[in-house]
Amino acid sequence: MTTVGVMEIEELERSLRGAVLLPGQPDYDDARKIWNAMIDKRPAMIVRCAGAADVRAAVNFSRDHGLQLAVRGGGHNIAGSALVNDGLVIDLSMMRSVQVAPHKMRAWVEGGATLRDVDHEAQAYGLATPLGINSTTGVGGLTLGGGFGWLTRKYGLAVDNLVSADIVIANGERLHTDIDSHPDLFWAIRGGGGNFGVVTTFEFALHAVGPMVTGGLMVFPFAQARSVLRKYRDYVEALDENISVWAVLRKAPPLPFLPAAVHGSEVVALAFFSPLPSEEVNGAVAELRGFGEPVGEHIGSMPYVAWQQIFDPLLVPPARNYWKSHNFNTLSDAAIDVVIEYAGNLPSEQSEIFLGLLGGAANTHAPDEMAYPHRDALYAMNVHTRWLEPAEDAKCLAWAREFFKAAAPHAAGGVYINFLNEDEGDRIAEAYGPNYRRLKEIKAKYDPDNLFRSNQNIRPGP
Ligand SMILES: Cc1cc2nc3c(=O)[nH]c(=O)nc-3n(C[C@H](O)[C@H](O)[C@H](O)COP(=O)(O)OP(=O)(O)OC[C@H]3O[C@@H](n4cnc5c(N)ncnc54)[C@H](O)[C@@H]3O)c2cc1C
Repeated sequence: MTTVGVMEIEELERSLRGAVLLPGQPDYDDARKIWNAMIDKRPAMIVRCAGAADVRAAVNFSRDHGLQLAVRGGGHNIAGSALVNDGLVIDLSMMRSVQVAPHKMRAWVEGGATLRDVDHEAQAYGLATPLGINSTTGVGGLTLGGGFGWLTRKYGLAVDNLVSADIVIANGERLHTDIDSHPDLFWAIRGGGGNFGVVTTFEFALHAVGPMVTGGLMVFPFAQARSVLRKYRDYVEALDENISVWAVLRKAPPLPFLPAAVHGSEVVALAFFSPLPSEEVNGAVAELRGFGEPVGEHIGSMPYVAWQQIFDPLLVPPARNYWKSHNFNTLSDAAIDVVIEYAGNLPSEQSEIFLGLLGGAANTHAPDEMAYPHRDALYAMNVHTRWLEPAEDAKCLAWAREFFKAAAPHAAGGVYINFLNEDEGDRIAEAYGPNYRRLKEIKAKYDPDNLFRSNQNIRPGP
């Protein structure tokens, strides 16, 4: 560990609009809490930045003092890369402003904003950009890894809608990057994660969405899982880009539209979304209903911002979480059988296996158009193991790992970097795919000493 003197820290603090939090100070323990309660790291200091000047000061300080550096956006990364033991954390949680220019269909979003911040500001004008499915997630980490959600089939990934970014690189310079300025850097940050610097502002293209959209759940008994999932596969593989349906296998939460007898038992839930009004997608919903005999259904018209927050109550901290993920280009019958076998043996009340649907506009780009490469993947499957007590760690981790292994022969071979765990360093090449080599070259140009390495790390190389 590098030790830094009190006077040097005081000097850093005087140079900031924000604040430095040190171990023992009142806000320090709160500031080192992140979404995944499995992560318990103790940084030497947390620099709460108030703007780009503070970010530059913090980058320079960590580099000049040889302190390991981590960057915290929304603090949701499962691997806990937002924190570093004994190092310096650049905490962007105060940098959440969102400026919308409705006539230009653009939003400028600060690096620590959450999805909720963007939806709130953009929906004031009936606009939105594709982000994720949980409103407390950070725009920063989500976007830099790719970013997919309910609007992805219609409008692509978050990175497909990124127009420019302002980024503080390892030497402390702040660069504006877009398709014409530092185009290699712009290519790399669209899928290369936090490897290239701290993004202080993202500029996104916006689209007319809502404010009313169609969304909800159709829930089937677990006994019908095989036939429901086979029909689901056939349905989504020919699906209109205006519709997205994700499949989730888990124990039913006590949702009011489900009979009490179903609560706590395994179910297959299909989450349906369309930006179209409900009367235009009634036929598509009726088709879902025909997959079996639903035990409950709640699909209808609702405000887009409400839909964007609808799964938040299932994802609140603190809980212990462990993920394993595979991309699938298609779902074979054998893959479905493995999913069902493990979903029938969930290790905790809150664990689930979900199939997030890609395709549509997300799959219209070439794999080398930008760093995010998985343009053939139709499903991002995530084994989301979630529990409360440390005593259950071993059981939950073992279940996730065994399922992951059993599903591997049926998967496409890629993985979304934002779903990688701490212990999956050996899957980084798989996550960056054919773009890994170019990413290493760009890393060598912008961060030759690998200052930004608390992430799904790309080592600088030829
Ligand atoms: C409940 C939940 C739901 C999710 N749903 C989705 C989903 O629907 N779609 C999807 O695509 N992903 C989803 N994810 C995954 C999510 O994209 C990643 O966890 C992502 O890393 C979160 O970003 P963050 O800023 O919140 O995380 P943090 O942990 O704060 O950041 C993760 C890493 O991103 C980098 N980073 C963050 N902000 C910046 C910045 N401004 N500049 C430079 N680097 C930065 C840093 O390297 C940091 O270590 C979900 C995650 C959770 C926990």
